[in-house]
Amino acid sequence: MIQRLLAVLLSTDPKQRVRIARSLMAANVYVLCMGIMGFASQQGLMRANEAGLLSGLIMLNVVVWYGLLRSGLNQRFREPSLTLPQILAALTWIVAAYAVTGVFHGATMMLLTLVLVFGIFNLNARDAKIAGAYAVVLTGIVMGYKTITDAVGYPVALESVHFALLVSSVPTISVLTAQLSNLRTRLRTKQEELTLALDRIQVLATRDELTGLYNRRHMMSVLDEHQRRLSRSSGHDFCLAILDLDFFKQINDTHGHNVGDEVLRNFASHAAGMTRETDVLARWGGEEFMLVLVGTTVLDAERGIQRLRESLKNATMAKDHLALHPSFSAGLSTYQPGENLAACIDRADKALYSAKQGGRNRTVIWPDVVPAMSSTMDG
Ligand code: GH3
Ligand code: MG
Ligand code: MG
Repeated sequence: MIQRLLAVLLSTDPKQRVRIARSLMAANVYVLCMGIMGFASQQGLMRANEAGLLSGLIMLNVVVWYGLLRSGLNQRFREPSLTLPQILAALTWIVAAYAVTGVFHGATMMLLTLVLVFGIFNLNARDAKIAGAYAVVLTGIVMGYKTITDAVGYPVALESVHFALLVSSVPTISVLTAQLSNLRTRLRTKQEELTLALDRIQVLATRDELTGLYNRRHMMSVLDEHQRRLSRSSGHDFCLAILDLDFFKQINDTHGHNVGDEVLRNFASHAAGMTRETDVLARWGGEEFMLVLVGTTVLDAERGIQRLRESLKNATMAKDHLALHPSFSAGLSTYQPGENLAACIDRADKALYSAKQGGRNRTVIWPDVVPAMSSTMDG
């Protein structure tokens, strides 16, 4: 109930919420200001109609700022919190109260510094200077004017003391604001650096450097996750295939290690481009890759692998050796719910071994669910 009321009053957007709440919080300064005026007029020290008019204007000012922020119009401004304009407006109202509260006007002085304190957590160094200068200049002018037009309520000696107080306290607040602003900037920079570093660590920890595919460690956590989901009955069946390039050592020996690397990179990106979004391909080691297919029957998986095999015939694996079309052998196995992951990987390994033994360039399923379905390049 309270949450819903707050959502209506303060909006549901967290950033806007903070801005609106802060603006409303500043209203207590206005309440104090109106209280001083009310008391002064009750004591007969200022005209009731002046106190009433100024209080009305101040209330209107609160409503206008609230409307601007709540409607979202503030987001069109470069600085959507509108802190500086709100502070300048508040300073104006308080100086106006200063001008009409007669012998009580000293009380409103304190509110000026209170308003500037509101800027400490939001204003940057430049805006803090603007707000401080505005407070000093505007109050100075009003003080000078009042000593001339109302020498009884605003004696020169008193105004001089007030002005001296103002001139000495405002710069302190401005300096503090600037220091806090610098601190915030440094913190933000550090935070950004930390986020970048974490992203980088994440990449280093999960990706293979040569191919950019997921590495073996990440693949193990993907498999763990699939296994856990399946045991909670919220996941799908999955099968995994280990793909091993045939006679890869010969490529290195004939064309050099760099060409070998290029083939690994191109094979990786080509194979990754042929997998579905839900499949995960990783570099399992050396010239071996692991493909995990989720929600796929082993026979569909085998067909997918066969498509990859066919497509390699036309794919460029090394730009200076266009005729280079290495084949691969694959061992495929379905994960049996409840079993150890290692057991499933071991079956895929055995199947791969069998594919190599059987002449390479083929897929073997282990256990061989439908013997006739194991495919080769020619079949
Ligand atoms: P098979 O058909 O039986 O798989 O034969 P193969 O030559 O592909 O397999 P073998 O295990 O004999 O050799 C694998 C080679 O892969 C040996 C190794 O130097 C090479 N290799 C492993 N990692 C990399 C790599 O990151 N870059 C390059 N260029 N070669 C690699
Ligand atoms: Mg090999
Ligand atoms: Mg190998």
